Amino acid sequence: MSLVLSARMSERIHAHLCRAYPDEGCGVLLGRDGEGRREVVEIVAVENRREESRHNRYLIAPEQFLFADRAARGAGLDVIGFFHSHPDHPARPSAFDLEHAWPYYSYLIVGVTRGQAGEGRSWRLAEDRSRFEEETVEVRDTHSEPSGGPDRTTSGGDRA
Ligand SMILES: [Zn+2]
Repeated sequence: MSLVLSARMSERIHAHLCRAYPDEGCGVLLGRDGEGRREVVEIVAVENRREESRHNRYLIAPEQFLFADRAARGAGLDVIGFFHSHPDHPARPSAFDLEHAWPYYSYLIVGVTRGQAGEGRSWRLAEDRSRFEEETVEVRDTHSEPSGGPDRTTSGGDRA
């Protein structure tokens, strides 16, 4: 099993989680579920709704989930998982994470150490719900995409 995301998507996730630091940041992964591999196509960054222990707990409220679910459907995608950060903590699910996880979904966890995001690791709940099983995270380079976007800044004054 693997979770595939573009470098750009990974950067957006990291940016949101670094902004939330030293609290946990969180969000929803939208994409397509294929055989053995899932592709993240879009993310919905949400505010951590926990009122206490925000440095090691997060909460995505039902209306935030519904908003993300509607956004997914509108784009022909599905909610395929969630992401959150572990501020100054390894990217491994906590007992709290296990207790609150739902079957099916991918749980992408990113350790943020002193404000710097590390590599993400992703997990799915085992069938008997007793533990998480890790899945591979594949970050795809998107620089080869011919999408007239960010390359404008690198062309200097050549065009004039
Ligand atoms: Zn966690």
